[in-house]
Amino acid sequence: MDNLEKLIVLAGGRIKCLRCTAKAKGSQTQCRKAALRISRTQKCRLHGGKSKGPVTAEGKRKSAIAPLKTGRFTKEAILRDSSSRVTLRQLRDAMVVLAMAQGMKKLRGRKPAAYIPIETLQDVWEMKLRDALQRMERVKPDEEKIIL
Ligand SMILES: [Zn+2]
Repeated sequence: MDNLEKLIVLAGGRIKCLRCTAKAKGSQTQCRKAALRISRTQKCRLHGGKSKGPVTAEGKRKSAIAPLKTGRFTKEAILRDSSSRVTLRQLRDAMVVLAMAQGMKKLRGRKPAAYIPIETLQDVWEMKLRDALQRMERVKPDEEKIIL
C-alpha cells in the first residue's frame, strides 16, 4: 500500500501537484487525478476528498454558530418566546378566575409547552408567588435561591 505516488505531473509537465491516493479495488492501480488541496487524506473529488466537517471541539463550536443570522430560532430564543406566551396565557386565565374579564373568549390554538392552566383562586395565588420568586432571583442572582 505504501508504494503510492505522492505527486503527479499534469499539463505536459507544467503542473506538479499532489496525487489522489485512492486505489482501484480490482487492479489496485492508483487514481491518476490530482488530489484536492483541502483534502486531509489526499484524495480527489471523486474519491471523497472534500471536507467531512469539523473534527476538533473548537471547530465544531465555530461551525455551530456560523449559520446564525438573527438568533430568532435558537433554542434559547424559542424557550424565551414560549415562556412569555405561557405568562400571557396564564395572566388571561387569572383575569377570568378573578372575574376581571367578562365576555372574554376562550383562547384557541396550541398551548405552549410549559403551560399550566389557571382555574382556581389557589392557582392564581401560586402563579403570583412563582412570579415574585422569579423576580427575586433576577434581582439577586448570587444569593441563595428559594425553592417552593
Ligand atoms: Zn481519485
